[in-house]
Amino acid sequence: MSDALLTVAPQRWALLAYARLRSLWQRWFLWLLLAVLVSVLLVTVVWLAGRHEVEQVQAALDRDTADAVADLRSGFQRNAQSLRATQAPGADPARWPEVAAALLREHREWLRLEWRDSALRPLQAVNTPYRMRVLDEDTRGPDQSDVSLACAAARKLGASAYSPSHYVPIAGGGGIEVMELCVPIDAGGYLVASYSLRDALIELVGPTLTRGQEVAFTEADGTRLVALGSSRRTGTRVFTSQQLIDLPGTSLMLRVDGWRAAPDLFPNMLTALVTAISIALVSVLVLLARDTRRRLRAERDLADALAFRKAMEDSVITGLRARDLRGRITYVNPAFCEMVGFSPEELMADNAEAPEAPYWPTELAHEYQQRQARRLAGGMPPREGFESVFMRKDGTRFPVLIFEAPLINAHKVQTGWMSAFIDVSEQRRIEELSRASQERLQASARLATVGEMASLLSHELTQPLAAIASYASGSLNLLGPDARGDQAEVAMAVKRIAEQADRAGQVIRSVHDFVRRRDRTREAVAPQALIDAVLPLVRLQARKLGVIIEVVLEDRLPAVMCDRTLVEQVLLNLARNAMQAMDGPDNVGSRVLRLRVARAVAMGAAGQEDGRRWIEFSVADLGSGISEEVAERLFTPFFTTRADGMGLGLSLCRTVVEQHGGALVFEPNKPRGTVFRFTLPST
Ligand code: ADP
Repeated sequence: MSDALLTVAPQRWALLAYARLRSLWQRWFLWLLLAVLVSVLLVTVVWLAGRHEVEQVQAALDRDTADAVADLRSGFQRNAQSLRATQAPGADPARWPEVAAALLREHREWLRLEWRDSALRPLQAVNTPYRMRVLDEDTRGPDQSDVSLACAAARKLGASAYSPSHYVPIAGGGGIEVMELCVPIDAGGYLVASYSLRDALIELVGPTLTRGQEVAFTEADGTRLVALGSSRRTGTRVFTSQQLIDLPGTSLMLRVDGWRAAPDLFPNMLTALVTAISIALVSVLVLLARDTRRRLRAERDLADALAFRKAMEDSVITGLRARDLRGRITYVNPAFCEMVGFSPEELMADNAEAPEAPYWPTELAHEYQQRQARRLAGGMPPREGFESVFMRKDGTRFPVLIFEAPLINAHKVQTGWMSAFIDVSEQRRIEELSRASQERLQASARLATVGEMASLLSHELTQPLAAIASYASGSLNLLGPDARGDQAEVAMAVKRIAEQADRAGQVIRSVHDFVRRRDRTREAVAPQALIDAVLPLVRLQARKLGVIIEVVLEDRLPAVMCDRTLVEQVLLNLARNAMQAMDGPDNVGSRVLRLRVARAVAMGAAGQEDGRRWIEFSVADLGSGISEEVAERLFTPFFTTRADGMGLGLSLCRTVVEQHGGALVFEPNKPRGTVFRFTLPST
């Protein structure tokens, strides 16, 4: 048993812990999921906002670059036209150097202008006035590769063409990136302009582009040729845009590097707004979680308080019941249900047809209804409570003590009545017991007084009885033994007087002995003798009441051992009671008193087998019988139903019989009346 408990308990504990963990996990899992989702959403939004910002910057840069490329292209085109204009038809070739010089003053991006013949031999050349001479006359022959490349392309296209850029070292150190422009002339020959790429950038690209950005020409493979603009600041992010400038004969890349403060967490208002909203959202989430935690704690506290209250209500032995203002039962505790034997559902059933409660005794329902109506009308019950009678489900009634008080809710409004019930049937039983024992005590006291009086009386009566006896024997002596006629009858009467006086003396002595509890003389008496002794007196009363007497004695009965006078008194008493019971008007014609003596089944007072033989005397009548209430108190001293009765007869009879070791019982007679039986030990 204990082993089983030992193995079961941890399993149960583990199961409970698992269930608790599960519910906790379920509760927090949703919160966790929400937090994760919101975090992911926020990160995504911030990231998207950042990306959007970057794209915007990049797009602006691309736009700027495209504009710059368009500027460069149109600049190059314009320049080519300007160059061609120097050799327009009708222009004076002699004045070409002058015109070229003027042009060079206007275009700082050109280093030198040349007029070459069809074999690319230089005819005229003018250098820019803004620089020291960079391009050497010697190196600019007809077979200079860059110029010949550009002019070959120009020839092929029939329009101006460019050479790839080439590096020209400068005498003082360093060098310069140069690109040649070759414009074919209608009259034959070429005009060649040498671009300084760096100056081309300065002159042809708007100054706004170089502000805060680096603008550079690069080759297709990314090799930087010339660069312009501010250099990169630390802590910034580089945005790059490059576009191809496709020129006839060659191509160049324009690359623009822009810087923005990076990484920028709040790049603009949108991101800042999103971030602020996100922070607010997270704060709300945190507050919500805190609130939920508080709620959970309150819920737990509430559940604990409720469980405590329920345990309290369930364990009290006082019945509790709540009623609403319409008198319907809204709550009952287990003690009340146990008290009345109805289930809570039966008690709280809304039965409009039967407004009375099921535990109201039917005979009192009307009164209780009135009491309830008074209560519902606002009548206050007594503070000290009041007593009432309720009915159990099995129909038994029991007394209850009721305390009632108005039921006031949290808003100080009366919502009904609360009642407490105490079952007082046990108290009542104890009170009844103590009352009965009190009564018995009083009866015993009276019995003792009666005993004293009887003893006194017997003492006082001895002398007059003795006087009667001696007068009687004196009279008999005077009459003489041979009295005749009337005298003989007088003598007979006097003899009877003497006998009865003697008998009275014996009764008095017996009572005296009985009261004083002296050892009484027990003698063997034939049952017939006992019956014969009482019959004359019984007959006297029988004649008066019109009762027929039947005596039945079993043959050869043994003698009984008894105090003869007392047993005769018992027989007389029982016979007298029987005749009095048949004294009613409905008994006329059926007044039969039956005295019967027989061997009894061996039964002593204690109802035990003790080897002795018993004789049973029975006195049966056809009287009114004994009701249940009377039967209960029949042998109680001083209990009587008769106006002139003492109520001592039966109690004395039982005492006498029990002193002999026998028992006195009674039972209903058939067809009516009562049979009293008592047993006495036989010899
Ligand atoms: P008493 O005769 O003075 O009334 P008892 O003790 O002899 O006192 O009898 C007590 C009561 O028992 C009587 O008042 C009577 O009501 C009832 N009683 C006794 N014997 C009989 C009987 N045979 N039939 C009906 N009632 C009887």
